[in-house]
Amino acid sequence: MLYSRIGLPTLGLCLLTSGWLLFPSASGLLLLGCGGLGLTICAHREWHAFQALRRAYNMAMQAAHDGFWEWNPISKQLKVGPRLLQILGYAEDFLPDTHAWLRIVHPDDVATYNQAVSQHLKGQSEYFYCEYRVLASDGCYRWIASRGLAVRDRKGRAFQMVGSVTDITDRRHHQEELEFLAQHDLLTGLPNRLLFAEQLGAALRAASHSGQSLAVLFIDLDRFKNINDTLGHRAGDSLLQILAKQLKAGLPAHCRLYRQGGDEFIILAEELASSSHASELAQKIRQLISAPLAGGTNDFFTSASIGISLYPDDASDGDTLLRQADTAMYEAKAAGGNAVRLHTSLMDQRVNRRVLLESRLRQAIDKQQLSLHFQPQMNCQSGHLVGAEALLRWHDGERIIPPDEFIPVAEETGLIIPIGEWVIRQAIAQIASWRAHYGDIPTIAVNLSPRQFWRPGLADFIITRLHEAALPASALEIEITESVILDAEEGRVEELIKIQAAGIAIALDDFGTGYSSLAYLQRLPISTLKIDRSFIRNLPEDGANGSAVLVNAIIAMAHSLGLQVVAEGVETPTQLAVLEQLGCEVIQGYFYGRPMPADDFALNFLVDRTP
Ligand code: C2E
Ligand code: MG
Ligand code: MG
Repeated sequence: MLYSRIGLPTLGLCLLTSGWLLFPSASGLLLLGCGGLGLTICAHREWHAFQALRRAYNMAMQAAHDGFWEWNPISKQLKVGPRLLQILGYAEDFLPDTHAWLRIVHPDDVATYNQAVSQHLKGQSEYFYCEYRVLASDGCYRWIASRGLAVRDRKGRAFQMVGSVTDITDRRHHQEELEFLAQHDLLTGLPNRLLFAEQLGAALRAASHSGQSLAVLFIDLDRFKNINDTLGHRAGDSLLQILAKQLKAGLPAHCRLYRQGGDEFIILAEELASSSHASELAQKIRQLISAPLAGGTNDFFTSASIGISLYPDDASDGDTLLRQADTAMYEAKAAGGNAVRLHTSLMDQRVNRRVLLESRLRQAIDKQQLSLHFQPQMNCQSGHLVGAEALLRWHDGERIIPPDEFIPVAEETGLIIPIGEWVIRQAIAQIASWRAHYGDIPTIAVNLSPRQFWRPGLADFIITRLHEAALPASALEIEITESVILDAEEGRVEELIKIQAAGIAIALDDFGTGYSSLAYLQRLPISTLKIDRSFIRNLPEDGANGSAVLVNAIIAMAHSLGLQVVAEGVETPTQLAVLEQLGCEVIQGYFYGRPMPADDFALNFLVDRTP
């Protein structure tokens, strides 16, 4: 039987819509179906069964809220049920044939639709299924999911196709919304890094076909954190929104802008004639960003560091291009920001060295490769020992790696937290051991990185360790740099106040190299100011040049604030004499002693103090 091939519900449809003839017969009515080449005869009893089925099918269709259709692939005649017309808002005889139907299918979906139909007609798919858009009477496109089956003759040729249609507009819109959200950044509305990866892949394929170049520009705002910290996160957000808008408006047609995350943006520039074009574009963007941005109640001033990588010069795959542009951006940042850098292979070598350094540094504590050296601090007039600074050393095999090389890596990777804790423990253990041998020795200073203040509890950690070693707070001093305070959120100054309240002295290191603002010197709980050695190095024989004037001013200012002054990097007797004349209290430098291992320090400076 025909219906055994097409399924009962479909048969119900056939009954409804195709040409059926009824004949009286001995057993009631004979039903003759002439669907193209097929012929089916049913008995009267079965006719009732079909009617019942038809009713059931209609009810099921209504309940499912689906529309149905029947189509003749030979005559191209189309019959659509009322629900389908209702979905689309058309009058009954509006869609008489395939041509009328195809006219309302979305132009972008016609090919997919035709392919699905022809595949099924050829018997290449088990059933016909297609999701596509059709124009409704209100002028808007609605998404429908159409599913159907072909009725075939003995040779397998389709002479009829029947099916149903579901309105999936809401589902598709929801799906599109989700897709949009997954591929865009909520704050700025810009495409995000996922879409960037996808579009970069497509752009690379197109470029390899056309033989053209493309560039990836990695943009990172300079000191964006300061805007968040000083003006608040809302202002930070609004800056990002304004900037995104301005950048988008200012970009040439062949460029696309993405938000990578935080204060990072990416530009994909296609169809580039040369690398100098990419640099010109980057300079234009840099200028655009550094111009004042009008933002309602706030005018923002910011700048950006921009790194560029090029296809095919630098790399041919997306991941590498992005990484290289990022590396170049870091170089621009290291050059002081507000700069543009093109990626070079030398940059990769530096990055590789850094990665290697990081992986070895991770094991340094466990392998006991770290140690503290101590450099004496002497009273300028008496030449007596008044303190010492503990300086970290890393013995990596044969080599001693200087702190200036590995501390920045430790800070970037967060390794400074365990290393910094090790320094505090080690310094305290050393002080306790020296005190046991030599009695009341002068204060020993340790350096703290700004990053160590990011985690709350630093003050408690130091105080607890001192307490455990039964040491007075005066046994230890800490050295911080200006960036601790410049990065300051309220909590960090509180940590400092807690440290000072416990009786631990705080020195401000490398004074003169940063922002050196008087305002925060007054706000901070510091007792000592260390003049950076770059000022001392230039102190002349006769004591009368720019450096001497500056050092004089710094000392006078420090004294007016009640701070003690330590001069760093004193190497010659003349420097010592000038500093003494300028009223500097404490001297630290090669003149009195280089940083040295603990035993040497004890031998040279503590032995004669044995009680
Ligand atoms: P810093 O805290 O300013 O330390 C003084 C630096 O000046 C030391 O360099 C010291 O060896 C050097 N120095 C002292 N006197 C002279 C001199 O007369 N001439 C010259 N040319 N140099 C002199 P070092 O030991 O290489 O340390 C460099 C920096 O590394 C330190 O500068 C400090 O910022 C950082 N550092 C060292 N140890 C630690 C540590 O345990 N933790 C942290 N966070 N930073 C550390
Ligand atoms: Mg220091
Ligand atoms: Mg210093």
